[in-house]
Amino acid sequence: MSDQATAPTPSLRAAGMRQTPQREGILRVLKDSDRPLTVEEIWERMPERRSGLPTVYRNLERFVSEGWAESIVGPDQVMRFVRCDSRHHHHHLQCERCGRTTEVDGCGIDASLTELERLSGFRVTRHQLMLFGVCPTCRSEKDR
Ligand SMILES: [Zn+2]
Ligand SMILES: [Zn+2]
Ligand SMILES: [Zn+2]
Repeated sequence: MSDQATAPTPSLRAAGMRQTPQREGILRVLKDSDRPLTVEEIWERMPERRSGLPTVYRNLERFVSEGWAESIVGPDQVMRFVRCDSRHHHHHLQCERCGRTTEVDGCGIDASLTELERLSGFRVTRHQLMLFGVCPTCRSEKDR
């Protein structure tokens, strides 16, 4: 499969972050993985391991606040990180069989949110939504 050129590696400098091999390593590891990774897994895959897990974790938190990555807590209650390709509002889907994640632009729950605001009296400013299911590959394997 060819490397999609849709999402260039986000610019660390544009976000006011110093460009370090450590930070670039984390972004690279996330980009190369088709499933969410724990902090430990990211650290293990990094080409250079000059700094420890806490530093990797701090960088990941920073990437999450920039919208470059998202943290996902799976059914096992373990936090993993996934790279975000879209800079727009989007959600991630994860396959419960193979663990692969994919990203879909947009949302489609606006009407439900309006109803929820009406019922709760809240003004909803943001939301997180993680979708779990069975990916096309796993579905077709089952059908065979
Ligand atoms: Zn995302
Ligand atoms: Zn699957
Ligand atoms: Zn949404």
